[in-house]
Amino acid sequence: MNRKPRIVIALGGNALGNTLPEQMAAVKITSRAIVDLMDEGYQVVVSHGNGPQVGMINNAMAALSRENPNQPNTPLSVCVAMSQAYIGYDLQNALREELCRRRGRGVPHEDVATVVTQTEVDPDDPAFLHPTKPIGHFMTEEQAHYAERAYGYVMREFPGKGWRRVVASPRPGRIVEINAIRTLVDAGQVVIACGGGGIPVTRQDLGHLRGASAVIDKDFCSCLLAEEVNAEVLIILTAVERVALHYGTPQQQWLDELTPGQAEQYIAEGHFEPGSMLPKVQAAIAFARSKPGRVALITQLEKARQGIRGETGTRIHL
Ligand code: ADP
Ligand code: MG
Repeated sequence: MNRKPRIVIALGGNALGNTLPEQMAAVKITSRAIVDLMDEGYQVVVSHGNGPQVGMINNAMAALSRENPNQPNTPLSVCVAMSQAYIGYDLQNALREELCRRRGRGVPHEDVATVVTQTEVDPDDPAFLHPTKPIGHFMTEEQAHYAERAYGYVMREFPGKGWRRVVASPRPGRIVEINAIRTLVDAGQVVIACGGGGIPVTRQDLGHLRGASAVIDKDFCSCLLAEEVNAEVLIILTAVERVALHYGTPQQQWLDELTPGQAEQYIAEGHFEPGSMLPKVQAAIAFARSKPGRVALITQLEKARQGIRGETGTRIHL
């Protein structure tokens, strides 16, 4: 089949900002980086994180139910769905605008569409026994105990800061809408999918999918998406130009090229911070190993074009 090589682009927090006006401005810069990659001859599929956005929506919905007793608490899965639509809306419009601007014809030949995506997780994933991911605002001890009783939340104290809800971060198992995503990608459309790692669901009897109180790591889900659309490259765009050893210390050393084996050794030596760089390196290793020829690249949003040309970034491949 004669097709353009494919890139799955995983966008980090810096690509979207923390507030509505910040996001409106950030998506313009992000869209330039994405269209830069398209102009390098690649077809792109976009995924993104949603930490600040899902936190904001979760807090807003919690305030609503405090204010109005007829409004029950909003499940986290619904908050993730809302965040996908909100981010997708801004991003697809900014992308469309950037495509119009560059193509200079008013109507680009590619459409841009966001797919509200569910990701199936294993209800027996051990992550459910050890929730680790903080969600929503800080609470007092009293509020925290109320949330435990009233909503069944798992609350954890962060010394000196207060209490916060923590949820599980299970591994992504299957992207439910993958056939729809593939169909759009095969038709040459620009697709935004798997936002925030996807809406976590578990499969029940009779085809029912049930929302889970969890969040899936966007880097792991982006790796799965990249495998499933048979991408050549997984590019994780974040706030640093390269991955480093001894990050943030005087011994810091930037990395250009790594095999999965070397990367694993650096993981074992503790070079990558859990919850930030570690999942990226783990996702990159998994993608590089999934098929010979596949390359994972971690670089800065603003350096995407140089990164894909091999001029910067950290690349992991066999
Ligand atoms: P994103 O929102 O893109 O997922 P994160 O903040 O989760 O971003 O992860 C990227 C951050 O990881 C970088 O901005 C950097 O501060 C941090 N980091 C931790 N360890 C390393 C490392 N070894 N090399 C480079 N960056 C690292
Ligand atoms: Mg992150």
